[in-house]
Amino acid sequence: MSDCLFCKIVAGEIPAEFVHEDERVVVFADINPKARVHLLVVPRTHVASLAELGPEHDNLMAHIMRLLPVLADRQGLTDGFRTIINTGKGGGQEVFHLHVHLLGGEDLPGF
Ligand code: 5GP
Ligand code: ZN
Repeated sequence: MSDCLFCKIVAGEIPAEFVHEDERVVVFADINPKARVHLLVVPRTHVASLAELGPEHDNLMAHIMRLLPVLADRQGLTDGFRTIINTGKGGGQEVFHLHVHLLGGEDLPGF
């Protein structure tokens, strides 16, 4: 996706400091953090949102789910953390490349 912001970050065309990367995902800090720790877990492959997931993404999503607590632990979030996936305009999604927000490090407000 040539005009996708997160595809450009994955490709290194827009700078971001990866706190983790592997064959499936890159992880970097949100540019506008909503908590002391606010990371974005971004698949290397372009998937627009949860609504576009298919069975071919099952291994990717399992990988992300199992990676999240590992990342939280590495960030020192021993007390817990929050994960958010915004889907579609109505869900508040701004960047249409699937990503999981990982937040913590302070008392987070309730919904
Ligand atoms: P969404 O609303 O799509 O779930 O979240 C998109 C997130 O991407 C927002 O929290 C926003 O602050 C973050 N973001 C947007 N542009 C950039 C950027 O260029 N670099 C980084 N690191 N984060 C970005
Ligand atoms: Zn993309």
